[in-house]
Amino acid sequence: MYYLGIDVGSTTSKAVVINEKKEIMAKEILIAGIGTDGAERVYQKILEQIPAEQIAKITATGYGRKLFAKADTEISELSCHAKGVFHTFPETRTIIDIGGQDAKVLLLNDKGRMVNFVMNDKCAAGTGRFLDVMANILHLQIGDLQEEYFKSTMPITISNTCTVFAESEVISQLANGKDKADVIAGICISVANRVASLAKRVGIKEKVCMSGGVARNQGVRDAMAKKLEMDILFSPDAQYMGALGAAIYSLEEME
Ligand code: ADP
Repeated sequence: MYYLGIDVGSTTSKAVVINEKKEIMAKEILIAGIGTDGAERVYQKILEQIPAEQIAKITATGYGRKLFAKADTEISELSCHAKGVFHTFPETRTIIDIGGQDAKVLLLNDKGRMVNFVMNDKCAAGTGRFLDVMANILHLQIGDLQEEYFKSTMPITISNTCTVFAESEVISQLANGKDKADVIAGICISVANRVASLAKRVGIKEKVCMSGGVARNQGVRDAMAKKLEMDILFSPDAQYMGALGAAIYSLEEME
């Protein structure tokens, strides 16, 4: 049998199917989060690969988890992220999860249990939204920012902490002839620095793992590693960690 986890986030809906050995058998993502039919559509995409009758249990997580009526159970995204990351990297003691509209830092004990957390869901700076806004004004895809980051030789400093003012600041820096790569590096560093300050409030313990969609940006990961002066664990499945954790809960609850 198979076990499904669906993570209905602010920006994206993710689904992961695992087998009895907790191996990922299918995964899907859609840029359609809360307030859309993203969860249903991502579920239908999974059913193109795995027959519904072979799915023993569905667990929903994420802000929009209550909206997915087909789920058998729902679990908070904090618990699911902790579960997914600890399964992937058991040496993790701090998770830095940057999503589309929030950032969370979770401290884990050596059993993978969450012992403390801090979050920013009040301000777009330090979240994926900040990067999405900046990519938009630069006419770039979100996945292209990292390449520009590594071309930079002299990153700009973004002084505004508000996304709206920072947007004007970036536009005027570009108008003043600043190099695009330096502007983009400054944007990635700004996100990393804001989340690093949040992480320092909770007290960082090594090893640190980054999860969530923004972790896919190698520039933000590099800036975070430099700011914290620590190596950062990263899985190419970083954006699926909540859905993976939910799938593992589906399996463990059956057991
Ligand atoms: P949520 O769970 O809140 O919906 P996610 O964890 O899925 O959010 O993260 C969404 C964010 O991830 C987007 O706002 C975007 O900034 C970032 N992102 C998505 N895809 C990529 C990519 N290929 N490279 C870098 N960043 C990405």
